Amino acid sequence: MEINFQNTEIAFKGKTNNELKSAYYLFKLMRNRGLVKTAQNLLITAMRLHLPYSWAIESTIYKQFVGGKTIEECTPVVEKLSNYSIKSILDYSVEGNTTPAGMERTLEETLRTIENASRNPNIQFAVFKPTAFASPHLFENAYKGKHFDSIMLSLFIDFKNRVDILCNRAYQLSVPILIDAEESWYQHLIDETVEEMMNKYNKERAIVFNTLQMYRHDRITFLKESIAKAKKKGYFIGLKFVRGAYIEKERARAIEKGYPSPICSTKSDTDDSYNEALRITLDNLNIAELFSGTHNEESNHILVNEMIKRNIEPNDRRIWISQLYGMSDHISFNLAYHGFNVTKYVPYGPVKAVMPYLLRRAEENTAISGQTTRELRLLEIENRRRQAIKK
Ligand SMILES: Cc1cc2nc3c(=O)[nH]c(=O)nc-3n(C[C@H](O)[C@H](O)[C@H](O)COP(=O)(O)OP(=O)(O)OC[C@H]3O[C@@H](n4cnc5c(N)ncnc54)[C@H](O)[C@@H]3O)c2cc1C
Repeated sequence: MEINFQNTEIAFKGKTNNELKSAYYLFKLMRNRGLVKTAQNLLITAMRLHLPYSWAIESTIYKQFVGGKTIEECTPVVEKLSNYSIKSILDYSVEGNTTPAGMERTLEETLRTIENASRNPNIQFAVFKPTAFASPHLFENAYKGKHFDSIMLSLFIDFKNRVDILCNRAYQLSVPILIDAEESWYQHLIDETVEEMMNKYNKERAIVFNTLQMYRHDRITFLKESIAKAKKKGYFIGLKFVRGAYIEKERARAIEKGYPSPICSTKSDTDDSYNEALRITLDNLNIAELFSGTHNEESNHILVNEMIKRNIEPNDRRIWISQLYGMSDHISFNLAYHGFNVTKYVPYGPVKAVMPYLLRRAEENTAISGQTTRELRLLEIENRRRQAIKK
């Protein structure tokens, strides 16, 4: 079966004509690398000088990619998506506030997202970024094989305790929780922590999910080892796959520090590795649950076809497909229309606090210009289709 992602009528059913136009102009602006760089510099300056900038952001890029400032403000977005059989994941996207008080606030807010998800059937998962819960000193100074002094050890224990509080609440309320992946040089600490949590909370089903960035050339081996460990210890393994968002940073750091790059040498190696990870997981669904986070059409087609090949129902509760809010609606809406389990990552938070997330989206949409061109083409087709109906 080939799902037609080009069906723009289904893809943009949730958008009014005006929303369609706004999205079109925004992607058009974002495709211009020079303009995005200038806008980024202007924004960073405005933030430093405490100049008002929120109004410009809120009505444009924020509206496209963010659900609202609070959990409550996201309700209309969650409801709207649910009208098209798409579930939401509210992602508190406040980054970089790792003072003890900042971490405490983020912990409280993330607990609220778990509680909210347990009450709302249209929210499927909770999520958090591990760096929100550790002193930067821990992750900045962590590399594989490094001996921990007593300070590092106590920071690591603090981190694990915070993660445990979140996973425990998720377990108590039966809300599966995704733990995002970030930079490779400290990911081993996160992997170790997540494995401990899975061993503790995944005995009956996958509640805790680790994230594997398949642009890392060591991840297929890691995946096989993780599955073997889960089998041996008798827990379900939650596996979220993404390609990875920090390629430039990873490569630059490897050059600067003089170690081999952890990233696959070509895009097609990353693609092969991503698709291979999907197949391996589908072959282990007796103990694994799969969350595929990608805007790549081919990987989504492969997942669908591999499911069909194995006689797995589209709505099998162990398989979830996800895209970011504001991106690749043609994939999300068409898959959901055909009965697959689809979720959108819906980031939320105050304008200033979500700026790092928005800047990453802007950069990504200029860097992956192919995807932006694709968004523009689809929006144009839909616009023309609606005009033709009017005539
Ligand atoms: C629901 C969801 C959750 C996400 N969560 C995370 C997360 O926890 N952590 C995280 O890091 N990212 C996360 N991301 C972002 C993700 O990692 C990708 O950056 C983004 O989705 C683009 O990749 P793609 O598979 O959608 O599409 P594609 O456009 O097919 O792939 C682009 C990706 O391919 C890789 N790539 C590009 N060029 C090369 C090259 N020359 N050599 C090797 N590899 C290359 C990079 O990873 C790049 O981002 C998430 C994305 C989604 C949709």
